[in-house]
Amino acid sequence: MRRYYEYFGYVGIASWVFSMIFHTRDFDVTEKLDYYAAGASVLYGLYYTPIRIFRLDQKRPPVKATLLRLWTVICVSLYTAHVSYLSFWHWNYVYNMAANVAAGVVQNALWSGFSYRTYQKLKKPWAAWPGMIVAWIILAMSLELLDFPPLVGMVDAHSLWHLGTVVPTIWWYK
Ligand SMILES: [Zn+2]
Repeated sequence: MRRYYEYFGYVGIASWVFSMIFHTRDFDVTEKLDYYAAGASVLYGLYYTPIRIFRLDQKRPPVKATLLRLWTVICVSLYTAHVSYLSFWHWNYVYNMAANVAAGVVQNALWSGFSYRTYQKLKKPWAAWPGMIVAWIILAMSLELLDFPPLVGMVDAHSLWHLGTVVPTIWWYK
């Protein structure tokens, strides 16, 4: 799985860097880069989750290699379609949010199931971590959905969402 985790790191770096740039310099191009990198990060999560859970990286049985190729084509196509729609048709905030939440919910459900099963089997606290981390992310994500006006004209729901993603990111790498 090493290669998949390395790409996960690169996509994560891109999304955090473009997010920092956008939140300090709000231009058309910086907004697009932030959204596309965030979309890539969420979709990459959806991509590698079933590869890890169902071990599609393994060569045997051979059907795994076929499923992996198929899943790769599906995810690359989804990302291309997503970016094309936003770039060439309509810069749609509601759709963008819905697409990211949908991809997030599916991978969080997969990790919760995986975590539950692994914990049942091993009874080790760390086996429950993925489930706890995605639960944390769902709570943080609710800040994105239940938006509110900035407190003291400064601290808004989106800034708290970003703050809330720091701990689960560090925890996840462990
Ligand atoms: Zn942001």
